[in-house]
Amino acid sequence: MTAKGVSERGKKVLLDFPALAALREHDRKGIDEILGIVEGCAEYKREVALPRALQLDQRMEREPDYFDWETMREACRYNIFSLAIPKVLGGLAEKYMITGMALAVEELSSACGGIGLALAAHSLGVAPVIASGAMAHWDTVLHEIVEEEKKGNPVVMAYGITEPSAGTDVEEPEFLEVGKIGMEAKKVKGGYLLNGRKCFISGGSEAKYFTVTAATDRSRPLQTWTTFLVERDMEGFSTPRVELKMGQRACHAAELLFEDVFVPDSHVLGYEGDGMANGILIIMAASRGPVGAIATGIARGAFEHFLAWTREKRNGKRPIDEDRIRMTLADMLGSIQENRGLFLNHSFGGDAVFRGAFTHPIFLSTFLIPRTIRTSKPYSAFLNSYYGKALVNALFRYFIKDEDVTDMLAKASLAKFTCADNAMALTSRALEVMGADDSPQRPWVEKAYRDAKLTQIYEGTNQLNRLVVYNTEIAQSLQVEIPGPFKKGVR
Ligand SMILES: Cc1cc2nc3c(=O)[nH]c(=O)nc-3n(C[C@H](O)[C@H](O)[C@H](O)COP(=O)(O)OP(=O)(O)OC[C@H]3O[C@@H](n4cnc5c(N)ncnc54)[C@H](O)[C@@H]3O)c2cc1C
Repeated sequence: MTAKGVSERGKKVLLDFPALAALREHDRKGIDEILGIVEGCAEYKREVALPRALQLDQRMEREPDYFDWETMREACRYNIFSLAIPKVLGGLAEKYMITGMALAVEELSSACGGIGLALAAHSLGVAPVIASGAMAHWDTVLHEIVEEEKKGNPVVMAYGITEPSAGTDVEEPEFLEVGKIGMEAKKVKGGYLLNGRKCFISGGSEAKYFTVTAATDRSRPLQTWTTFLVERDMEGFSTPRVELKMGQRACHAAELLFEDVFVPDSHVLGYEGDGMANGILIIMAASRGPVGAIATGIARGAFEHFLAWTREKRNGKRPIDEDRIRMTLADMLGSIQENRGLFLNHSFGGDAVFRGAFTHPIFLSTFLIPRTIRTSKPYSAFLNSYYGKALVNALFRYFIKDEDVTDMLAKASLAKFTCADNAMALTSRALEVMGADDSPQRPWVEKAYRDAKLTQIYEGTNQLNRLVVYNTEIAQSLQVEIPGPFKKGVR
């Protein structure tokens, strides 16, 4: 295999992911862009994340409210806040948006699951703005993220769907139908009044912009579930508290409080009532694979520290000289590679689904219109109007088919729960073998064990993700139907 012009880290990625190396034979430019992203994340890992990860974890156990903004500011140098933002807007996302994201978060999380989550959760917050085709906000919010990043100022986004009374229930249509929803969006003149709470929101205490779901009629949550863009400085909005976390502490899990928050009509992402299929399901179909990559990164980090431990001498002997330890190491490598196969299988498929829309000349040509016009009031008003949204929706839906999103969701859920369970098993095994050891490697592995646990919970618990795989692949009772104005049953 030749890999001319590729950095050392890039060469290792091509060895670890032969499918990427094979693809590079056909699309060198596209794959080299991804390798560039991974190389940037590897440098961030070396220079920023690894030197702080352990101390930060310990400090945030004592002071859960503390937040290390420096880790965020440093991430700007590597364009990590632009990972999910389309290239036409100055971001990094193009043909291999999901694959690039997955490999980036594996790299970041191999240094620290918490820092990895803090950076990945931002892209999760960005995702509904992109997936809903809310292009009026692309030239404002997404543009601001890219421009401020160039100046070293992180503009953070967060995604809020979980409520105190509904966690699993908001992630699956069948459960949302009967879920006890607390958050309400009441229609008023010119917009909506939001009342209620969201909880466990990653990055919620730092974010400037939020993508948030709420029912416009709490007695019919599935039919009226709607995604809104909320700004931190909107009156009545606050983030009163953060959790004391067991793992991934570098990323806050915050409560969001809405007390008569007025959100204008222009801030509805997509249409009223399409928040499950056009919001949560399409986002989860894209993002659960990268969550598997977070788990894989945590497992890889633990493996690297465990391997270093096996080479240390204790009582004149090195653990790595024993066959049982060598077999354990081989098992660990096997589970990391199994994870990679699953999340890459998802991301290659997902990229093929989204690529059609995001690289199509019709889509790209809209950005030939000068920015002054794109940000003008009449243009924004058109994009936010029923017909403006319908046009973008029709274009997206032409390329992004229901059956492809269903398949993507199945592969994403499979990767998510398998990677998370494997990471939990690997970190647990490493700790068992190390025992109560005073090696400097042990606190890293213990932290990885706590970090890994949370990947089994967020983006749908592993139980829910197993049900999604059963429902999509085996029972075929869950078919994602992305609504749109030209489809039956949607206004
Ligand atoms: C570190 C962390 C970060 C997070 N970040 C975010 C974020 O950024 N944004 C956000 O919106 N949310 C976030 N969450 C919330 C997360 O998505 C929820 O915790 C998760 O969906 C589970 O919901 P719950 O905690 O209410 O548990 P519950 O829904 O109460 O579930 C409790 C248990 O019951 C099981 N269960 C529930 N219903 C069923 C069923 N029908 N069948 C079988 N088993 C079932 C679950 O699998 C689980 O084991 C985060 C959570 C954590 C821990």
